[in-house]
This record gives sequence, structure tokens and C-alpha cells, in this order.
Amino acid sequence: MASRPNVLIIGGGIGGLFAANALIGQGLRASVYEQASALGEIGAGVFVTPNAVRHLERVGLAPSVERWGARVGPGSFYFRHDGTPIAPVQVTDASGWNATFGMHRADFVDFLAANLPAGIVHTGHRAIAFEQTDDVARVEFANGAIAEADVVVAADGIHSALRSYVFPPSKPVFHGTISYRGLVSRERLPNWPMDRWQMWAGPSRHFLVFPVRHGTMVNYVGFVPTDEEMKESWSAPGDPAVLRREFEGWDPRIADVLQQVDKTFRWALYDREPLPTWTKGRLTLLGDAAHPMLPHLGQGANQAIEDGMALATILAQVDTSGVGGVAARLRAVASPARGGDSAWCPTKWTAPRLDRHRSQCP
Ligand SMILES: Cc1cc2nc3c(=O)[nH]c(=O)nc-3n(C[C@H](O)[C@H](O)[C@H](O)COP(=O)(O)OP(=O)(O)OC[C@H]3O[C@@H](n4cnc5c(N)ncnc54)[C@H](O)[C@@H]3O)c2cc1C
Repeated sequence: MASRPNVLIIGGGIGGLFAANALIGQGLRASVYEQASALGEIGAGVFVTPNAVRHLERVGLAPSVERWGARVGPGSFYFRHDGTPIAPVQVTDASGWNATFGMHRADFVDFLAANLPAGIVHTGHRAIAFEQTDDVARVEFANGAIAEADVVVAADGIHSALRSYVFPPSKPVFHGTISYRGLVSRERLPNWPMDRWQMWAGPSRHFLVFPVRHGTMVNYVGFVPTDEEMKESWSAPGDPAVLRREFEGWDPRIADVLQQVDKTFRWALYDREPLPTWTKGRLTLLGDAAHPMLPHLGQGANQAIEDGMALATILAQVDTSGVGGVAARLRAVASPARGGDSAWCPTKWTAPRLDRHRSQCP
């Protein structure tokens, strides 16, 4: 009888939690091991686009996206730093489907986790070592626990501990930019348009604003150059007065937002050189662990979600009682040179609007 792989996911961020949803949706066994003592995210937004929303729909999360997201529409626009319009922002996919949402990161992680069966997520487990044989993959945790599975997915972010078991270790590359990020409640900006994504671009800097949490909060991000190579962090506090000075003299709409900022966080931007492969035997990388990217196209989390669906689709085709099944199938999906291989296209379609979903695959 065919036997489906058991999958262990390291990292309970957006990528790892979505992968668990996708794998379980395909009838596989999955568990998530997260180093933090509780799941959570920083107080900032993430932009979710149609390429990811279609996968969220497939795992039954369309109502959560509508409930927690803030859909942005055709008023979305790019401006010069002085407020002169440049061009509209593309908020639809190629078929005209508008599924572009601002999302509070904490809401996103909450609803991805809430959609999983109880007992799947294990917090307080920091992976420190990995080994594999022909028959099994094994992860050791800092708390002394050991877990075994047919497949291990490292979704442990840009500083991935397990990445070095796929490829020799390397350091993230500092981009010379920091981002200031934070949220302002709707009450403090009663006239701010909550139906659009807006970005202002000027010399060496840009500033963007979009709504989150169903339009009850405004998310802002200001990107500025720096010589100071700070440690990559989600939560280094920033000085709102310094942030205001960085964008002094820009479109007065930016000053309207920044006047309401009491608390801001700084995050240094890092990237990595691309890897020639994301998989070794029974271990595969996903999301920022595999392919971190600068945030300027707002695709890091969206691509992590695409990875999860591709992985689940491939692994659903594996019979672990066959010889070499897992490693061979992982190689089909977990390679940057995948182009043209349609084996990852889902075979099981659960969400409505089949035409739209099917258009992504032959
Ligand atoms: C300023 C900025 C704005 C961005 N905006 C967007 C956007 O609008 N849209 C978008 O799509 N992307 C955006 N991104 C990128 C996006 O945030 C990341 O690509 C995405 O969060 C990656 O998800 P992940 O699950 O792969 O990794 P992470 O979110 O980093 O999650 C990794 C998880 O693994 C855990 N972990 C780490 N090590 C271990 C270990 N050893 N053992 C167990 N657990 C471990 C961590 O605690 C964490 O929970 C932005 C990034 C930046 C910097």
C-alpha cells in the first residue's frame, strides 16, 4: 500500500506555517517546530499578492484573508517624493483578479496557525543539528528533544541553522539600507484613504503606506541609506524624530503620517547570494532560508507561500515505500533551475474559481 511522507518543518513563520497547511491539505502528516516560546510576529504589515492569495484560498483561508486583510484597489499609486504622480500600482494578476491585501503580520501568523489541527505546532524547539540516512531524517533541538521524519523542511529564515546542511555556510550580505516600520491606528489618521497602497520615491529613499487589519490600521515603511551595518533584527527601536527628518520636505501627506508616529522600529536589509540548489537528500529549504530577497517587490512572504504549495504538491505524489522517492521528488521542486518542470502543478483542486487557479499550470 502507498505510504505518504511524514514531514517535519523547522520554523513557525509565515513560510513554515503555510507549508504545514498545504501539506495537511494534501493529506500528508506534518509538524512544525518553532524556536520561540510562542508563535508571533512584529507589529508591522506585509503585502500579500494574488500569487499567494490563490494558495491561501486553496487551503481554505479565503475567509481569513477577507476578514484580516485590507484589500487595496485601483487608487494605488507611485509618486515622486514631492507628490507628483508617476504611475498606478498593479493590484491585479494578469487575468484582472484583484487579490492584493495589506496584512498585519501577527494576524497572518495567527490565522495560519489557527487553521492547523491541534498538536501540530511545537514551540520552544530550536533546531541545532541535522542528520540523515537512507531511511530517515533527524533533527536535534537545543532542549534535548530529537524528532524524525521522512522529510525535513527548513523554514527557519535568513539565518537558517539547517541551511549549512545543504550548502557550505555563508554570511548574509548587507544592502546598505535600513527600513523604519510601524503602525498608526485609523483614529489618528481619520482622513487617510484606506483602499489603496501608495509609495513615494526620491533620491536614495522611498516611503510606502498601506492599510492593514481590515482598514483599522495604517502601515508605513520608510527606506533610508546608511553606512552603519546594524545586526539584522525585527525589533531594534528607532527614533521617530530621526525618521521625520529623513523625509523632511517630501510630500506633506508623508508628514501627516509621521506626525502620528510615537514608536518606530528599524530593520537593516540583508540579502544572500543565490544557492545552486535548495535540497540535499531528505532536507529541503523554503522561504527566506532558501532564497531571501530584498523587500522592494514585497515578495519574500508571497514566494515562501508559493514554495509551500509546490512542496506539498510534489510530496503528495511520493510513495515512501518506493526506492529513492522522497529525495528524487524534492530535487524536482527545490531547485532554482526548476523552470519548465510542471510536476509541481497541483493535481487536487479544492478551491472555487478553477479557471483562475488552473491558468497557472498546464
Ligand atoms: C522591510 C521589509 C518589508 C517586507 N515586506 C514584505 C511584503 O510586503 N510582502 C512579502 O511577501 N514579503 C515582505 N518581506 C519579506 C518577508 O518578511 C520574508 O520574506 C518572510 O517573512 C519570510 O518568511 P519565512 O517563514 O521564510 O521566514 P521568517 O519569517 O524569518 O520565519 C522563520 C521562523 O523560523 C524560526 N526559527 C529560526 N531559526 C530556528 C531554529 N533554529 N529552530 C526553530 N525555529 C527557528 C524563527 O523564530 C521564525 O519564526 C519584507 C521584508 C522586509 C525586511
